[in-house]
Amino acid sequence: MSIFDKHMAKEQRKSMEFAEDSRQDEWTYPSFVAGLFKGKVNWNLIHPFREQSREKREEGDKFLAKLEKFLKENLNPDEVDRSREIPENVIKGLFEMGAFAIKIPKEYGGLGLSHVTYNRVVHLLGSFCGSTAALISAHQSIGVPQPLILFGTDEQKRKYLPRFRKGAISGFALTEALAGSDPRIIKTQATPVEGGKYFLINGEKLWCTNGNIADLLVVMAETPPKIVRGKEKKQITAFIVETNTPGFEVTYRCEFMGLSAIQNGIMRFNNVKVPRENIILGEGKGLKLAFITLNTGRLTLPAAVTGMSKMCLNAARRWAAERKQWGSPIGEHEAIASKLSCMAATVFAMDAVTWLVSYMADDKRFDIRLEAAMAKLFCTEESWKIVNDAVQIRGGRGYETAPSLAGRGKAAYPLERAIRDSRINTLLEGSSEIMHLFIAREALDFHLKKIKALFDPRVSVGGKLKAAVSSALSYSVWYPGLWVPCVLGCGGGLKSPLDKHMMFVKKTSRRLAKMVFHKMLRYQKGLVSKQNILNRFVDISVDLFAMSAACSYADGLSKNDKDKANSVELADLFCREAKNRIREKFREIKHNHDKLSNSVAKKTLSGNYSWLENDIVK
Ligand SMILES: Cc1cc2nc3c(=O)[nH]c(=O)nc-3n(C[C@H](O)[C@H](O)[C@H](O)COP(=O)(O)OP(=O)(O)OC[C@H]3O[C@@H](n4cnc5c(N)ncnc54)[C@H](O)[C@@H]3O)c2cc1C
Repeated sequence: MSIFDKHMAKEQRKSMEFAEDSRQDEWTYPSFVAGLFKGKVNWNLIHPFREQSREKREEGDKFLAKLEKFLKENLNPDEVDRSREIPENVIKGLFEMGAFAIKIPKEYGGLGLSHVTYNRVVHLLGSFCGSTAALISAHQSIGVPQPLILFGTDEQKRKYLPRFRKGAISGFALTEALAGSDPRIIKTQATPVEGGKYFLINGEKLWCTNGNIADLLVVMAETPPKIVRGKEKKQITAFIVETNTPGFEVTYRCEFMGLSAIQNGIMRFNNVKVPRENIILGEGKGLKLAFITLNTGRLTLPAAVTGMSKMCLNAARRWAAERKQWGSPIGEHEAIASKLSCMAATVFAMDAVTWLVSYMADDKRFDIRLEAAMAKLFCTEESWKIVNDAVQIRGGRGYETAPSLAGRGKAAYPLERAIRDSRINTLLEGSSEIMHLFIAREALDFHLKKIKALFDPRVSVGGKLKAAVSSALSYSVWYPGLWVPCVLGCGGGLKSPLDKHMMFVKKTSRRLAKMVFHKMLRYQKGLVSKQNILNRFVDISVDLFAMSAACSYADGLSKNDKDKANSVELADLFCREAKNRIREKFREIKHNHDKLSNSVAKKTLSGNYSWLENDIVK
């Protein structure tokens, strides 16, 4: 049975049902964010702010110190940007120190380090060289090692994991020319041959990072359909492909606005023969594998962009103090001062979100699908604003390249490179629009589970009646509870003003839950297509989560490290700004011009306003 509206366009409905079939249905572990949508703030899940054990921290510190020294001595990011190449000796050095096998268990030759340490590595790389960060992360976050660690058979692990210590680079190939955000429509085929012992892969993949230099790839391909309840069901399967297999060819290297040294292009598969034992997780489970791998893989981008944002903050802060115009440092003019303070507070919240969810990933007792998606959405969107503001604060020097600045003896902050490098982050590993859809779907799960049986034609009238009574009973307890005033505080024992912010989170979570419920009643299945409404809910919840993470982080820092006691101010400022955004979103839910906006969009699409495009060079 479909949870999607029957009025939805056929192809859209098919794609959404396909994604729905591949999503993780079960919630085995608790999720702080899932609670927010139910009006339940389970503060204990995120407070006190988790930390690594001293032993693990020191292990990470050692590796990071070695890596930083190596990077400073061997890597010139501006030269990487100019030449579009990461030097061979750098890649070799990174292999020798194990940077391509950070999370691979020691028994397979890896470093066996934690997820937090891996993210600290990417954070450091992100602050220095975007192309190198992409090389390491495309290999380890979504490339062959991570799905193998999660789902590989013992034999697959023994065969492939040790290679990542010895020079093998990997990537993840899903995207095709016609299939971007919508994986259902991939065309690459894997046809069983020799009684199903092998598959022949045919097709073309686009934009696989590292693809042009990879030794091993995870390739998503269509295998023969299954018949489910009398209907053909498309199967997408994940294969490990060795790129030295005959029939594999890289036919083009793409050139991008930023990350200029990434090796990414067009890969052609012409009867590439792959044994059945190279399937990961199982036939038809490719998309599920991608979704689950990305639950932790998605945390790499937040770590990388937080590192990059700290570099921007550093550049903006120094320049705002040094540069004098109109008689005083530009950082003392209020318009620049407010940009700086917002940058500092937001970087603090990004740090809080990134490390909170990374610790949760290591702990393994949390369901982090929503938290990781929010970390990706929040950090990539905010980092884009931060790099833009940093360029604005640097003025013309923000637009000048670092080599040009260095050439005339000036401080060479690489903001021009950073803004080019960071534009991609809201597009890949789930664009911001897709992250909104993903979060909204998971957020509605609480309700969809209750009403699913009511719309299922296979459920008998008696079954429907039973489901209706059961959901009515459950709602009759849950819904009135949302109206009970929050008199007991947030229960975290936080110092002022953090306690007030957490109280706001608690109250607002209830308000959000009520509104989601009201909209569910009003639109029923149709709500899934109301992207503007859902996006506002998601934006509110992202800010609530970031506020909670920031308050928990500031509380821990201020109690444990007196040098960082002023983190409370940063959390306070972030929360006040987030509250303003949240109030505005609630206002927009009631008073909006979605109808007019949709009508103008339709007319724009059909060319009604094409006269606006007159008088340009065509
Ligand atoms: C530098 C770079 C590196 C990459 N690395 C990899 C990689 O390693 N492996 C890999 O497989 N792919 C990779 N990709 C592909 C990347 O993941 C895709 O670009 C991304 O999935 C979006 O697909 P698309 O560009 O075709 O955009 P489209 O899917 O065509 O989307 C275009 C726009 O429409 C929006 N949109 C699409 N559907 C909806 C919807 N239902 N509702 C609302 N908005 C929607 C999107 O958010 C986007 O803004 C890479 C791309 C680049 C440029």
